[in-house]
Amino acid sequence: MKKKLSEEQEILALKRAAKYRREFLGNVSHELKTPIFNIQGYIHTLIDGALEDPNVNRKYLLRTSKSIDRLISIIEDLEILANLESEELLMDVTDWDLIDLVNELFEFFEIKSSEKNIKLSLDSNFDSLFVFADKEKINQVLLNLISNSIKYGKDGGCITIKIEKKEKNSLIHVVDDGIGISSENISRVFERFYRVDKGRSRSQGGTGLGLAIVKHIIEAHEQKIDISSQVNKGTAISFTLKNSIK
Ligand code: ADP
Repeated sequence: MKKKLSEEQEILALKRAAKYRREFLGNVSHELKTPIFNIQGYIHTLIDGALEDPNVNRKYLLRTSKSIDRLISIIEDLEILANLESEELLMDVTDWDLIDLVNELFEFFEIKSSEKNIKLSLDSNFDSLFVFADKEKINQVLLNLISNSIKYGKDGGCITIKIEKKEKNSLIHVVDDGIGISSENISRVFERFYRVDKGRSRSQGGTGLGLAIVKHIIEAHEQKIDISSQVNKGTAISFTLKNSIK
């Protein structure tokens, strides 16, 4: 049962929530500003004459289109977060095969990973392993983690998804041999909009929301998530899922 908060505690919690909202809105508008100003700049330059200059017109339009893609990624991630946080967050928990999902995701990432010569491999003793979780949301978790491992991975590297079955839970590790994260940054990567290297993240189409979404989803399942990383060695993100009892 929830403990009743004292009046003082309630005021403190409200103040904290208000501060959090202020900071969040500040971050959102800051993140949206960059691509919007880029678009504005290129459109104005095109209107002012660059449209007739065959040396730059296509280039500026392509850059405009890239900024629009960026805006779309930010809005999509914000939408996912908003849905996760909304009071009506409905978890659609069912029994499904985790190995199947990982294989589907490997197919999905085949082209993206091959562009960097990254090998995707599954390390598991099972042909199928049924878990009890919201499949769509766990798909999102693995999508974000694999996508990060590719984004921050080294050319010619490898990404391994290791699955261990314990008594009640399964333990899933997404391991890469990429650029890694330093110890002073590691505790902050699950924060919204936190990025170790803003330039690198942006150039890779990152929004800084991916890991915040991942953590949110795992916690909504009342499961655990953990990260370990070493600069230039790689990163491992591990989380648990409830085994199916079927
Ligand atoms: P982004 O959209 O910037 O990738 P995330 O929330 O997914 O945002 O990750 C936050 C930051 O954590 C990233 O900007 C990156 O610096 C770091 N990071 C996440 N995953 C990895 C990884 N596998 N290897 C190295 N750094 C990572």
